[in-house]
Amino acid sequence: MVKYKRVLLKLSGESLQGEQNYGISTEMLNAYAQEIGAAVKEGAQVAVVIGGGNIFRGLAGTSKGFDRVKGDQMGMLATIINSLALESALTNQGVKAKVLTSIRMEPIGEYYSAHKARELLNEGVVAILAGGTSNPFFTTDTASALRGVEIEAEVLLKGTRVDGIYTADPEKDPTAVRFEEITFHEAYSKQLKVMDLTAFTMCSENNLPIVVFDMNKPKNLTKVILGEKIGTLVKN
Ligand code: UDP
Repeated sequence: MVKYKRVLLKLSGESLQGEQNYGISTEMLNAYAQEIGAAVKEGAQVAVVIGGGNIFRGLAGTSKGFDRVKGDQMGMLATIINSLALESALTNQGVKAKVLTSIRMEPIGEYYSAHKARELLNEGVVAILAGGTSNPFFTTDTASALRGVEIEAEVLLKGTRVDGIYTADPEKDPTAVRFEEITFHEAYSKQLKVMDLTAFTMCSENNLPIVVFDMNKPKNLTKVILGEKIGTLVKN
C-alpha cells in the first residue's frame, strides 16, 4: 500500500546532466524514467515538474546581456525540452506519460489545466507539467509548489542529490545531522534551505508537506511513496 497516492515530483534540470556539464544525459534520463515507472507500478499517481538549469537559467542570462524577462522565457522553454525528453524516455519504457505545457504550444504538448492533469493522473498517466508557472521571476520550485496544490497532491517530493535537510552543510561540517522531520516554522527560523522562499511559503500556507530526498539512489522514490522514512519530511 502506498502512503501517498498522488505526488508531485520535482526534479532539477541540473540533475539531468549527470556527469556532463550541460544538457541531458540519457543515462540519467532513463534512470529517472525507471524510478518513476516503478512508483507508478506501486499504484502512485505521479505528476512531475522538471527544471531547466541544465540548459538555461534566466538570471544567468542577465550577465550575458539578456533582458531578465527574455532570459526567464528561455529558461521556461528549457523546462519544456527536458519534459519532452522525460516523456519520451517514459514512453520507451512502456510507462504512459503526457506533457502539459503552461504556455500554449500545441502540438508539442496540450495546454495545462489542473482538471486535465488530474484526469491524466486518475487514468494512471504520468503528467509532466512543463513550462514552469509561465511567468518570469519564478522558478520551477515555485511551479512545483503551485501545481502540487492545484492538483491536490498529498506531498511534494523534492528529488535532489542529498539525502535530506541537515543542521549544517554535511560536506563542510562533519557534525551535521539530518532531520528526519521538521516543521515549516522550524526550518524557516533556522534558515534551512528547503526550496526557495516563494515555494516554501506556498507549501506551508496550503498545507502541502515536502519530502527532500536523494533521487539518485535507486528505489528511493518508491520507498518514499511507500512511507519509508527516507530524506527529510517538512510539514506544518
Ligand atoms: N523559470 C521562470 N518561471 C517559472 C519557472 C522557471 O521564469 O515559473 C525560468 C527561470 O529563468 C529559471 C529557469 O526557467 O532559471 C529554469 O528553471 P529552474 O532554475 O527552476 O531550474 P532548475 O534549477 O530546477 O534546473
